[in-house]
Amino acid sequence: MECGVRWGRWPSPLGLSLGIGAVALAQVLVVAYHYVRLRWCATRRVQREPRPYDFSEGLKAHLGSPGGLLLMVLYLSVYWMSDAMPCSYYSFDGGVRWSVVFAQTCSQDLFMFLLHLFEHKGPLGPAFYQRSHKPHHRFVNPRLFDAFDGSVADTFCMILVPLLITSRIFDANVWEYMLFGALWSSWLTLIHSEVSHPWDPLFLRIGLGTAADHHVHHRTFVFNYGHTMMWWDWLAGTYKAPAAVRAFNDASLKPTVQGGSNYSVDSSTVDSSATEGNGPAGAESHGKRE
Ligand SMILES: [Zn+2]
Ligand SMILES: [Zn+2]
Repeated sequence: MECGVRWGRWPSPLGLSLGIGAVALAQVLVVAYHYVRLRWCATRRVQREPRPYDFSEGLKAHLGSPGGLLLMVLYLSVYWMSDAMPCSYYSFDGGVRWSVVFAQTCSQDLFMFLLHLFEHKGPLGPAFYQRSHKPHHRFVNPRLFDAFDGSVADTFCMILVPLLITSRIFDANVWEYMLFGALWSSWLTLIHSEVSHPWDPLFLRIGLGTAADHHVHHRTFVFNYGHTMMWWDWLAGTYKAPAAVRAFNDASLKPTVQGGSNYSVDSSTVDSSATEGNGPAGAESHGKRE
């Protein structure tokens, strides 16, 4: 169906460009926030095991992962330019209804939760898990820049399918879709952070996704399948509180200035059981298919 302003046979790419621009700007802000906090602010690492790295290398990996942001931009561009999105998405009319932005985020996370469970325990079995989602699970102790580091199949299954379903459920306008995209992609990045955020104590209480909640999934494999909301895990009985994971720092630990992402590691203070590298050997695993 032909909707909105046309460029000849094609829909005007203005809304698409604004949307991609909003997500890109949000990512710039997230990366700047992360740099400032690691460099100068007192923070607490989620996990005890150190994970020093070169910040510029992390940034390059984040931007260059073919299964990540690049695939999402490609999906959105094809979906938009082929006139396949519902008409409302091409409309600049009306302001932002925050209830719609929130509903899109909830829907996206619910379908991600279901597809995430499908990848881990679905009928396609271990062979499908290994090809799709397992590459993302090599990060037992993730850093912020690992957020979109996964296989193309993983992004397709767990991100693009929920995005497609969510876009068919809600008649959002271009502003609402842009805000949803920017907020949701930033949040998904932030929950991979190696240090906790100032809002995490509040989020933990009301079941919104925190960095520690998602680290529980990376460390244990069989809990916390939700990303931005933990409500689905509460209902399904698959929620595990970060405080119950022994490889994590105590939430009462005094925050310290890391001095950057390449902080030095004092070997005498490191828990040897938590330093067996970043592979499954150091994982506190509870199930199969890790
Ligand atoms: Zn993850
Ligand atoms: Zn997983």
